[in-house]
Amino acid sequence: MPASTRTRSDRRSPAVVPRGRAALYARQSITREGSASLDVQVEACREAAARLNLEVVAELVEAPSTSGYSNRGRNRPKFGELLDLIRRGEVDCVVAYKTDRLSRGGGPGWAPLVDAFEEAGRDPDRAVATTDGWVSEFEIGIRSAMDREESKKTSDRMLAVRAREAKEGMPRIGGRRPYGYSQDMSEHIAEEVERIEEAADLVLAGESVWSICTDWNERGVPTVTDSAWAVQTLTSILTSPRIAGFRTHQGKVVGEGQWKRIIDEDRHDALVAALAPRRSKPRKGRTYPLVGFLVCGKCGGPLRSLTRENGGRSHACRKGPGMGGCDGIRIQADGLENYVRDLICGMLADPVTRAAMAEPRSTDLVGV
Ligand SMILES: [Zn+2]
Repeated sequence: MPASTRTRSDRRSPAVVPRGRAALYARQSITREGSASLDVQVEACREAAARLNLEVVAELVEAPSTSGYSNRGRNRPKFGELLDLIRRGEVDCVVAYKTDRLSRGGGPGWAPLVDAFEEAGRDPDRAVATTDGWVSEFEIGIRSAMDREESKKTSDRMLAVRAREAKEGMPRIGGRRPYGYSQDMSEHIAEEVERIEEAADLVLAGESVWSICTDWNERGVPTVTDSAWAVQTLTSILTSPRIAGFRTHQGKVVGEGQWKRIIDEDRHDALVAALAPRRSKPRKGRTYPLVGFLVCGKCGGPLRSLTRENGGRSHACRKGPGMGGCDGIRIQADGLENYVRDLICGMLADPVTRAAMAEPRSTDLVGV
């Protein structure tokens, strides 16, 4: 490669004319253990550039991300900038800490890089350098293939590690603290264990999760996240294999966990059965024809349908999560429906009302 026509000399060694303009490129890998920090990478690249007598004209450092093999090649804005610099002839070469910094998952990263150098008419054997010196075009090809393989293996290895941890019953640590346990699951939280037992007793005695949540919210029982108790939250706690001492992996129980259980297996099975989502029955048509038309005379909230185990139907103003009422009114549906039916039939028997109803836009009738 012809030496750069630039004449600006290195301040420290005025006799030496830089042999090329380099861009430094650094990217952090989170999945790779012992990966050098960005600062270390950049510093090492600067030293390598000095050794190779290159003038550093750009330092491109990708913002840290948590990407592994699965999203390789994405989200590398600085790599795009690098390609532009090469194509526009503003840099002669790139210096990276290691070849895998440039490749991310292998081939796909290298092809555009090699193309860009070719487009700009650069010598491919003096296009890429690492802290070990120049990388030949041949080596680039080999390394990119190896990088790809290694990256994929790392990903496979991590999956294998997760599966093994699960089989051995190691707790899944990280994320939200599981209710009833310390963050690392080594200890029970006494009050929370009591709550779980209390709720389990109530559910197995026929109480609804909804009413337990309502009660707990009224009593200010804290959740892990400081939000209010919701049916979904408590249900998933009560039915989780975790509190029965079972470890799951990808949604299936794979063995016993290395932590103390809160409820025994029989109770776990009973809770799962009690709280299993009910199969929705085929719709039989409207069982509460008046729902949506009734409001509470005390608070103005909507009256909601309430069905008893024995089939008794009523309308009630309900208080609680998402209900928005006052709990102040409850009325048997049968009696109310008969009353409304008689009222309407009576109105229809009146010729004046009937005539008014036959007219278009006779909406004043709602005042009944
Ligand atoms: Zn009300």
